[in-house]
Amino acid sequence: MQTHFSPDQLADSQTAASERIIRKCVHCGFCATSCPTFTLLGDELDSPRGRIYLIKDMLENARQPGPEVVKHIDRCLSCLSCANTCPSDVHYGHLVDHARAYIEQHHRRPLADRLIRWLLAKVLPHPGRFRLALKAAALGRPFAARFNRSPALRPLAAMLRLAPRTVPAAAAHRPAPVPDRKGRVALLQGCAEPVLRPEIRAATIRLLERAGHEVVFARGEGCCGSLALHMGRTHDALAAARRNVDAWTREIEQEGLDAIIVTVSGCGSTLKDYAHLLRDDPAYADKAARVAALALDLSEYLERVDLRVDGSVPPLRIAWHPPCSLQHGQKVTEAPVRLLRAAGFDVHLPADAHLCCGSAGTYNILQSAIAERLGQRKAAALGASEAELIVTANIGCATQIALHSQLPMVHLAELLDWATGGPAPAMLAQVAAHVHLETFQ
Ligand code: SF4
Ligand code: SF4
Repeated sequence: MQTHFSPDQLADSQTAASERIIRKCVHCGFCATSCPTFTLLGDELDSPRGRIYLIKDMLENARQPGPEVVKHIDRCLSCLSCANTCPSDVHYGHLVDHARAYIEQHHRRPLADRLIRWLLAKVLPHPGRFRLALKAAALGRPFAARFNRSPALRPLAAMLRLAPRTVPAAAAHRPAPVPDRKGRVALLQGCAEPVLRPEIRAATIRLLERAGHEVVFARGEGCCGSLALHMGRTHDALAAARRNVDAWTREIEQEGLDAIIVTVSGCGSTLKDYAHLLRDDPAYADKAARVAALALDLSEYLERVDLRVDGSVPPLRIAWHPPCSLQHGQKVTEAPVRLLRAAGFDVHLPADAHLCCGSAGTYNILQSAIAERLGQRKAAALGASEAELIVTANIGCATQIALHSQLPMVHLAELLDWATGGPAPAMLAQVAAHVHLETFQ
């Protein structure tokens, strides 16, 4: 695609990077059919190619983005299915991140939208505040239907719908030293996952320690920054990335790390991109590249580990839901399936596995109508495999799909922990009728 940026514009490194991305696009449109929003809405401006045109026009002409442009960019899930399909290697993810940051700087959203985005940015990345907010959701639940009738308040209704009715107690399971350790890894503690499903972290620690790998929590580490990044709040995302790079650099320089393990694939995608995010910061560029190179999804690390499957679990029929951030963002597709099959499970992929479930960070709050259609579609595809449970690797997907499916949602770590001597996932106890629990207790 031809571009006409001025030399002054190209002096800005982010604009120069976006210009290189735009120039790679050859307008072929191959990406359209892999795009969930184009598939649902059928509007060229809700396709990757249409959005690239909008972004090009906005950046090249230094335009103040109007509501129409903002609407189509906001509707993008950042699922990166398009980037995976593109024959010209257009790095759409970095381009849309730039567009979101530009919109945040040059567009004044309606008051309710600004307040809701501020609330999400101030609450979700902080586990203590998030837990309090979930408890407070009980007070707002009676008003959910009323909120849903007002487009401005619909995100509040979506938050209430997504909030669990019971908030689990804070995780008590901590890593312990491992004698004769075979490896030493940091585990990203994350923000939303330990609040919503603390058992995932506990299962991960047990699994790794049982295999002889020491797990550490780096002091000072927190949210990876992806929620802020996808809302265009670049300043917050960079601050989160720098804080985490500092925390893991201390661990690397003291006792060393073999990997930084991530159990939430959305966070893993962002961590692996820290080198790009901090490339213009001379104090952090090298350290960020070192941290990014160590970041691995749990499934990638487990393939290098001697997992002793004890053969005691039943060969449950499983629907594997590959999160977009894992399959498109990190291009990890085979490892989770191989691990689950090696553990004795009967693994099935749903039709259209490449299409997003509608979770996408805060998307199911800010774009709840589209997210709902995507969630229903995904739950139906997963259910059609006649599986007894759904397994995934991202808390956002688990929460979103659980809204639309009766099947238990389990994290990969919980099943592998169970298959190597740990307890059966608590989620399965709720569906004893589905899986004949008494046979494997
Ligand atoms: S990131 Fe996903 S929703 Fe956005 S344009 Fe690409 S395929 Fe479509
Ligand atoms: S597939 Fe790639 S090159 Fe073709 S229109 Fe989409 S982004 Fe552009």
